[in-house]
Amino acid sequence: MNHNQQHKVTKSMNTANSNRLKKNCMTYEFELFKLPYAFYALEPNIDALTMELHHDRHLKTYTDNLNATLKPYPELHGWTLERLLCSLHSLPLKIREAVRNNGGGVYNHIYYFSGMCPNDEANKSAHICEPEGSLARKIECVFGGFDEFKKQFKASAIQVFGSGYLWLVANRRGQLKIMETSNQDTPIAQGYCPIICLDLWEHAYYLKHYNDRASYIDDWFNVLNCDFAEKNYECCLAIDNSQTKM
Ligand code: MN
Repeated sequence: MNHNQQHKVTKSMNTANSNRLKKNCMTYEFELFKLPYAFYALEPNIDALTMELHHDRHLKTYTDNLNATLKPYPELHGWTLERLLCSLHSLPLKIREAVRNNGGGVYNHIYYFSGMCPNDEANKSAHICEPEGSLARKIECVFGGFDEFKKQFKASAIQVFGSGYLWLVANRRGQLKIMETSNQDTPIAQGYCPIICLDLWEHAYYLKHYNDRASYIDDWFNVLNCDFAEKNYECCLAIDNSQTKM
């Protein structure tokens, strides 16, 4: 498979994963999310061992724990991941925290892993936000350009205390916001639509970057999948336009 073919496969898998989330068709029993690229594909920015442990151990544990939590509750087996996370208050008290943590762990990692792509010659365009995209235009308008957005996003990411994520999200009117979530909390539980997701748990970078979070953020930007971000933003706008409740 040459670079172009690989790029097409990666893009179509990203789209499929994104659509799978947007179509709300993920229900119990949740499958382990398949990485749309090889563990080594993000080298040298994100190392293969970090990716393997992050996916095969951390995400697998969240997925297994979510399934184990829901197993005794057949009445919840038809619920999508989004419905579970947006309706935590209506879940049995006994499993509310476990669904919040493990369901959030599954949801957030799908956005994080899908939001990166290999940074090779054939794939260069995938991590440069095209100026004709609606997200690129909005970023220009709100932040004064992609470079300025990166500066603000990095400054916010450095300041996230403890384990959590930094997101670019849209509200129901399509307005952009940089947003922090703690632990495995999700933007959708607070009514925001996710566009870009940065995992700031130390397991995401400690093996390669040690405690140097700033260099991890720089490297992560090198493999940012802007096609995925653009598609997410278009989906956020479509949700808004159709008045569909997320
Ligand atoms: Mn993680």
